[in-house]
Order: sequence, then C-alpha cells, then structure tokens
Amino acid sequence: MSEYKGILVFSEQRDGDIHPISFELLGKAREIADKKKCEVYSVLLGYQMREKAKELIYFGADKVFLYDHPLLKEFDVINYKQNMVNLIREEKPEIVLIGATPLGRSLAPRIAAALKTGLTADCIDLQLDENGELIQVRPAFTGNLIAHIKTSTRPVMTTVRYKVFKARERDLTRKGDIVEKEVEIVEDVGVRVVRKESVEVVNISDAEIIVSGGRGLKKPEDLKILEELANLLGGVVGASRPLVDEGWISKDHQVGFSGNIVRPKLYLACGISGSPQHLAGMRDSEIIVAINIDPSAPIFNVADYGIVGDLYEIIPKLIEKLKNRKRGVKG
Ligand SMILES: Cc1cc2nc3c(=O)[nH]c(=O)nc-3n(C[C@H](O)[C@H](O)[C@H](O)COP(=O)(O)OP(=O)(O)OC[C@H]3O[C@@H](n4cnc5c(N)ncnc54)[C@H](O)[C@@H]3O)c2cc1C
Repeated sequence: MSEYKGILVFSEQRDGDIHPISFELLGKAREIADKKKCEVYSVLLGYQMREKAKELIYFGADKVFLYDHPLLKEFDVINYKQNMVNLIREEKPEIVLIGATPLGRSLAPRIAAALKTGLTADCIDLQLDENGELIQVRPAFTGNLIAHIKTSTRPVMTTVRYKVFKARERDLTRKGDIVEKEVEIVEDVGVRVVRKESVEVVNISDAEIIVSGGRGLKKPEDLKILEELANLLGGVVGASRPLVDEGWISKDHQVGFSGNIVRPKLYLACGISGSPQHLAGMRDSEIIVAINIDPSAPIFNVADYGIVGDLYEIIPKLIEKLKNRKRGVKG
C-alpha cells in the first residue's frame, strides 16, 4: 500500500476547453495533499492541449501528464480508459479523483474495474481521518443518510459532483512540470461515432440566477410565468423532481439529489416544499428566496428571504415590478 503516493486528478476537456470541475477537483486535491504532504498530479488527454495543460498547474497541479493524439481529441471511452490505466499502473497515485459528469461517470468505473479497485461515486465531500486516509462522503438511502466511506484497495477512486468544491484562485506564479506520455491507441474499439446530434440543454449548474418551480404549480403551462421571471432576471428555470417525472420539463432542469447540484447567486424556490432531496441540490446557493403558501414548509429553514403567499399572486407582481424598472417607471 505504501508504494501508492500522491493524488491524481483527471482533467476533463470538451472541444479543447477544460471543464471547470477539473479546477474544483484540483483545489480540493491541493488542500488534501498539503495535509498529507504529497504531490498533486493531473492527467489531460486530448490533442494540442499543451497550453491548456499550464492552466492545471496554475490551479494547483505539481505535475501534468499529457497524452496528446488526434484520436484523443474527442472522448473515446476505450482509449481514455486504456491510457488512464497505464498511467495509474506506472505512477501509482494513492487517490484518483474524477468529476461525476456524464463523461466521468462513464470512464471511472471502467478504470476501477480494470485495476480491480474500489470506486465511490457521486461524492459531496472528501475528508482525511486521523491516519491521513481518505474519507469519501456521499448521500445514501435517497439522501436521508450521509455515508462516510473508506476504501481498502489502492488507488482510492472517487467521482465528485460538479459544484461541490470551489476552485482556487488562478495563480500564474505556480510552477510545475508537464510530462508528455506515450499514447497507446486501441485501433478497434468496437464503437464508431456516426454523427453528432446537438440537443438544447440547460447548463443549470453554471447559472447565476435560477427560478425554480415545484408542485405548487397547477399545470405545465404555468411554467411560462417562471420563464418570464427568469428571463427578466437573466436567469434560467429550475424544477423539483415531480415536475420532471410528470414530463412538464426536461431532466436537465432538475435540481436536487438525483438531478443537478447548483450554487447560484440567487435561487428562487416557488411552490417547493424543501424536501431533503431537493435541499441537497441547492442549499449552498448564495441567496435563497422561497415563495410558499405554507409557513411551516421546510424550505423556509434554509431561505434567506421567505414570502408566505400564493405564487400565482406574487410572481406576476414581481414581473410587473421588474418590467416597470426596465421601463424606468418608479414604484
Ligand atoms: C431517490 C429519490 C431522489 C429524489 N431526488 C430528487 C431531486 O433530485 N430533486 C427533487 O426536487 N426531489 C427529489 N426527490 C423527490 C422529493 O422527495 C420530493 O418529493 C420533491 O422534492 C417534492 O417536490 P415539491 O417540493 O415540488 O412538491 P411538494 O413537496 O408537494 O411541495 C409543494 C409545495 O408547494 C406549496 N404550494 C402549493 N400551492 C402553492 C401556491 N399556489 N403558491 C405557493 N406555494 C404553493 C405547498 O405548500 C408545498 O410546500 C427524490 C426522491 C427520491 C425517493
């Protein structure tokens, strides 16, 4: 076990841009590594990404392993897995952190299975015990329990949800090494990309303002008033799970334990009771405003501002006020 040292962060890239979750993971890895007195490595697979690799150093990596090949430009789960497995076998990091994005969720279990090591998915926190071993914190039993998990195999592999950690400040004075690694390409991966379909999805995790609706809404068409309010505020529409389950709105709008974790500057919860599963996704928002007819709704326990009342009366008034303000009318 003692031959395993350091923390390896998988850096996700899309079209040559590094996903912000990579910087969040590097920030946490740096914090843990400083306590454990070990190094932080990052691995970047892509094509012509050397300049971008420097960013990983500015955000906390001591060493970046770069796999540069035209066939790694796009995510290819077999080739990504193969090169990750090779790297982990060579470098023997004690801990491997991967973002719990759709890409990371596809890649991580394949690597863990190849290495015959444990994987804890969808973590919401990482801590160290008194012996310096990693404790992986994740919701269990539909979010009613928080499990603290220790992995007995090495490396300890973890996927972490987007937006649960904050990235460090970009530090241009940080120095580190970029190590180009030999790429192994598996010629026949058995999968061929025929074409790419673009689907309109809302990236709710990155939104600064979210106007969310819950079962307090009476019919799907009423989401339009939330949309109008969100547009006036420059935000996006979110939803509690029942609205998604009913097919009123697509899953990319869902906030909560089984949806998206969000950390906007403003979260407006309209007709949402505040179940533990919903709170798990939005309680770290900077300012929470709740509108609910029931003064005992649990959402008010986390709200910075609470409005007890009917959303069908309050939201149109808010819309009117915002429109007036835009028109320069006082009041
Ligand atoms: C495994 C699992 C995972 C889950 N994951 C998620 C998740 O990711 N996200 C999620 O949201 N839920 C999730 N849930 C569901 C969760 O348990 C709750 O059922 C759900 O969050 C409730 O949604 P709600 O607040 O919209 O509805 P309700 O709990 O029914 O609340 C509706 C609220 O609207 C208020 N209201 C009614 N009329 C008005 C009005 N006119 N004006 C103002 N207020 C009004 C009511 O007072 C009430 O508080 C999950 C459940 C399970 C079992």
